[in-house]
Amino acid sequence: MKAKEWISDLRVYEPGKPIEEVARELGFDDIAEIVKVASNENELGPSPMAIEAMQEAIPEMHRYPDGGAFYLKQKLAGNLGVAPENLLFGCGSNELIVFLCHVFMEQGKNLVMGAEAFAVYFLANAMYQGETIRVPMPEHVHDLDAMLAAITPETRLVCICNPNNPTGTMVAPDAIDAFIEKLPDHVVAVFDEAYFEVMPDDMKPDVLKHIRAGKKNVLVLRTFSKAYGLAGLRIGYAVAHPELINLLNKVRQPFNANLMAQAAAMAALDDIPHIVETREMVFQGLKFFEEELPKIGVETVPSGANFILVKTGNGREVFLELQKRKVIVRPMDPYGLGDFIRITIGTPEQNQFTLDALKDVLA
Ligand SMILES: *Cc1c(COP(=O)(O)O)cnc(C)c1O
Repeated sequence: MKAKEWISDLRVYEPGKPIEEVARELGFDDIAEIVKVASNENELGPSPMAIEAMQEAIPEMHRYPDGGAFYLKQKLAGNLGVAPENLLFGCGSNELIVFLCHVFMEQGKNLVMGAEAFAVYFLANAMYQGETIRVPMPEHVHDLDAMLAAITPETRLVCICNPNNPTGTMVAPDAIDAFIEKLPDHVVAVFDEAYFEVMPDDMKPDVLKHIRAGKKNVLVLRTFSKAYGLAGLRIGYAVAHPELINLLNKVRQPFNANLMAQAAAMAALDDIPHIVETREMVFQGLKFFEEELPKIGVETVPSGANFILVKTGNGREVFLELQKRKVIVRPMDPYGLGDFIRITIGTPEQNQFTLDALKDVLA
């Protein structure tokens, strides 16, 4: 077989380990005992209203979904204060990152991203032979001035993950406005706001105001996978100028946002109490780890998301040892952060269980 060389050379994304896989490998009988805090999922589960909507959708599952997601678009546009033409749905926001690379990247063009930012930008870019320019992140924070300075005439995309996965760090709202002001017209700025709903209010950026004002080369990515607790359904969205949305729509398969996902997303948008409860759980859990970990000499990185980057030393070994104690976290060596693990914020009981396991490992 003669596959394209750059495809054969691709590194495959290492996702968080599924609970069942860990149970199988380590011979645990009761999977209910295993705490998975590896993929920034919402440990409160899906919104109860979304569950009801999914149950109602079951008898309709012989039908193709509405490829244009008419009702979901209307509803979300109303919530965000944009037009339905500003929206596009994806099979997770991951798919939208692939669309962006499909449309903009090729050999000789480059994508600018933070050196410790979400790996999917690089991986999607590599599928289209784009080059990646990685900009250092002092104190694990995106350096927007350095990212602007890294832009070349061949740059097509610049990705800002805010809060950043896996570091949890944020960039200030006014710094983002200044960045957009200086952004060259030939570059599309992608603001990945996968954790927007759980950000502290004073750090929430308002990138949408630039899109409402008609800015063509700015795009926001959000998802139902994190705060909304619907990671298994695979639905996310992009907000941008209709011209940019239309370009992305050209590479979209007709039914990429499935029927059940559309129904659940509609209902989840109405479940404000679920989001409020999720935010409270996250704020409380972050505070817990930020207070408890330094007591055992473990440094944390300030986070605005539902996870925390933790400097344990020997991240991969700590990850393996925690697994033996029924806790699944994420080792950070693929991000060049070999001394770190990333812990998703769970319920108070899960956080305590994780802390106790970590204490045991480090002892
Ligand atoms: C989780 C995550 C996503 C997307 O997830 P989907 O499930 O594909 O919507 C996108 N960007 C970042 C930074 C994430 O952490």
